[in-house]
Amino acid sequence: MFDPDRIADELCELIRIDSLSGQEREVAHFLAERLEQLGLPTRFDDAHLAIDGEVGNLYARIDATAPNLPALMLNAHMDTVKPGCGIEPVRDGDLLRSAGDTILGGDDKAGIAVIMAVVRELIEQKPPHGDIHVIFTIAEETGLNGAKNLDYDSFQADWALVLDGGREAGSVCVAAPSALRMTYDIYGKAAHSGVCPEQGISAIQATASAIAAMKLGRIDAETTANIGIISGGQARNIIPPHCHMQGEARSHDRDKLDAQVRHMNESVRNACKRLGARTEIEQVNSYQSFALGDEHPLVLAATEAAQQLGLEPGLEIGGGGSDANVFNEKGIPAIILPTGASGAHTLEETVDVPALGGCAEYLWTVMRCLNKWRRDGHLTASDN
Ligand SMILES: [Zn+2]
Repeated sequence: MFDPDRIADELCELIRIDSLSGQEREVAHFLAERLEQLGLPTRFDDAHLAIDGEVGNLYARIDATAPNLPALMLNAHMDTVKPGCGIEPVRDGDLLRSAGDTILGGDDKAGIAVIMAVVRELIEQKPPHGDIHVIFTIAEETGLNGAKNLDYDSFQADWALVLDGGREAGSVCVAAPSALRMTYDIYGKAAHSGVCPEQGISAIQATASAIAAMKLGRIDAETTANIGIISGGQARNIIPPHCHMQGEARSHDRDKLDAQVRHMNESVRNACKRLGARTEIEQVNSYQSFALGDEHPLVLAATEAAQQLGLEPGLEIGGGGSDANVFNEKGIPAIILPTGASGAHTLEETVDVPALGGCAEYLWTVMRCLNKWRRDGHLTASDN
């Protein structure tokens, strides 16, 4: 039913359009035109205003053929990471990779291509389905900004299927951690390091002492932490008055996350106190964790669909954040389905062409398995 080569051709068209985060205008209009050619009305929201981007999230709707079936959101993000300009996709056997020193952009254009294939099939075949909301988001990679600024009042979806996962059809991500981002500015006092070092307070030394006291890396099975950026100092012979660092912590358990962040902040405060330095700490909630239980309709459908297709069902616990975190937080339960892409955010990124077809078929089958639910005001399992 799904021709992998046709999906790959559309994917290559998408990949050739540059779309770094905040610069999605061209690809968004390309997709809007495609969707309108299929007879679907499209619109954009104002999510880009929050991040000074070029264009908002793109919406299209396929009206229900059976309004009592669940309303589904199909989502993928339009932006890609750097280096992502002038990407030239090349076919290498079953694989697509980039020709030059760029990423491929399979994350997440493979997700878009898979959704487009399923949308075409829905329109041609008109199987029984509820309302389908196709939403292509902007600026996922820079902080889930499209999903965070989505106009949730303008559509009603019972569940979301986010196409932003791994390579294998049948594997599905049903949980992801919370994350907090911290920015630390440590202030000491400048002095000539040879003439009067006793008059200075080294911000670098205070920062180093703070980091040395921190538990970082893998904290436990659910929790990780990192200091990823540090910079400071002006000259070899000046005691540095300022040092800047940025870190993050993630956990599937909110209490553990808060404890880890408290520990990191305390380490900085204690080191500063000891050395007479001062600190300013800024803390931002990146995203909220989610975990759908084994009995959740989305999880049951994902497992059942894999079994129907003779695939190995794999429920995965994710280690990163995606638009699915935001949808779950906003009250639209979401899982992350595979797209055939792997090696995201590296120059070695690839997309497996046969897997594109398999992932489209998997999405199609998951949607069909969700149709055993009926929404008479609320969702209930039907007997047939
Ligand atoms: Zn992605």
